[in-house]
Amino acid sequence: MSEKPTKEPRIPDRGEAIDYVDGRIETPEFPIVPFIEGDGIGPDIWRATRLVSDAAVQKAYGADRQIQWAQVYAGEKSIELFGEWIPEETFDAIRRYRVSIKGPLTTPVGGGFRSANVRLRRSLDLYACVRPVFWVPGVPCPVRHPQKVDIVVFRENTEDVYAGIEFQSGTPEAGKLARFLEEELGSPVRADAGIGIKPISEFGTKRLMRKAICYGIEHGRRSLTIMHKGNIMKFTEGAFKDWCYELAAEEYPELTITEQQLWDDYNGELPPGRILVKDRIADAMFQQVLLRPDEYDIIVTPNLNGDYISDALSAQVGGIGVAPGANIGDGVALFEATHGTAPKYAGMDKVNPASLILSARMMLDYMGWTEAADRILKGLRHTIAQKTVTYDLERQMERAYLVKCSEFGEAIVQNM
Ligand code: NAP
Repeated sequence: MSEKPTKEPRIPDRGEAIDYVDGRIETPEFPIVPFIEGDGIGPDIWRATRLVSDAAVQKAYGADRQIQWAQVYAGEKSIELFGEWIPEETFDAIRRYRVSIKGPLTTPVGGGFRSANVRLRRSLDLYACVRPVFWVPGVPCPVRHPQKVDIVVFRENTEDVYAGIEFQSGTPEAGKLARFLEEELGSPVRADAGIGIKPISEFGTKRLMRKAICYGIEHGRRSLTIMHKGNIMKFTEGAFKDWCYELAAEEYPELTITEQQLWDDYNGELPPGRILVKDRIADAMFQQVLLRPDEYDIIVTPNLNGDYISDALSAQVGGIGVAPGANIGDGVALFEATHGTAPKYAGMDKVNPASLILSARMMLDYMGWTEAADRILKGLRHTIAQKTVTYDLERQMERAYLVKCSEFGEAIVQNM
């Protein structure tokens, strides 16, 4: 008989919370990890992901380590059970246990409702949206050399025009702001304009840059590119660029180097152990990642640019439906599928679980369980190389073997 759901996660007896000490994650052998199944196809892809993660950990560490999963609720399931989209207990659990994973959540259409995803990111201050983009051989894609793409995007998650400070055309608020801009600041806007505000702060920028540099150091990355439109938006995106350079010079002078220093002092040869910090204008960046993707490694960028470049890059490697992602703050991280709930396929055991599976791989890597993370990637690569794939890839491949969502997970386990 299944247990009655509770808002409080049921904590397995054996589990311990992951710790965060001096800016580093410390993972016990039996960490408690909250999960949100998600709506629509969420339960299907979650089942496959859990199977694959548990198998990877078991194969890598035997009985010495095991994730202690603790279900928490959000989205439609939470409405059904508790009458609210995200209970406070879910926020508490994600904060307390530090590393969590979620399937996609429905965003109800209609005025005044802020998406559950946005609420989670905001309330937990998960300020870095991290998207590693790379090609898995065999995945159909539109470019000739997809293997040249191996880029990690660090997108700022809390500021920019996404801060939600917007006033509708014709409202008293928009009128008041327009008058203020004209009369007090000498910056007229048309009387019938809707107005959005684009805040970008030194604090918000520097903490993102710090996180991206730390990631670069830990993962042996060679370059970091600040993507911005600072030539036009000087005091927001231009300042973003300046603050990023400042942070690198102030906090990592021995580990980073600018393009200027590279040519002035090292004849263009990157000295070992340094990360090259450069910047590119946003529109040029879109050309660069298509024409010379192997020159880019980490991209650090404000919210809106980050939204665009993440999806464009994922499409380049054919992986828009299989791209992993995470929203990370200081000592709290939430890993998630990047696609939505695809409601028409809910419960059909049909869709591709790779996005959530690769997010689980990112999660294990973040926890320091790299051997298990590597097994997931190995299993996925083999399975796709064998052309054992779900419908979305099968319809684009020749002579592929069509499997269900659960069978795809089982094949990955076989191939680890
Ligand atoms: P969607 O759920 O991503 O689905 C769009 C299409 O993408 C699907 O019809 C399907 O294409 C394909 N697709 C998505 N996931 C797939 C998977 N795992 N395997 C194979 N194909 C997959 O986008 P949507 O229809 O715009 O959004 C539906 C709901 O999800 C909305 O409520 C939206 O707000 C929400 N959403 C949530 C998140 C999140 O929680 N992070 C993100 C985006 C959207 P075909 O029809 O061609 O097979």
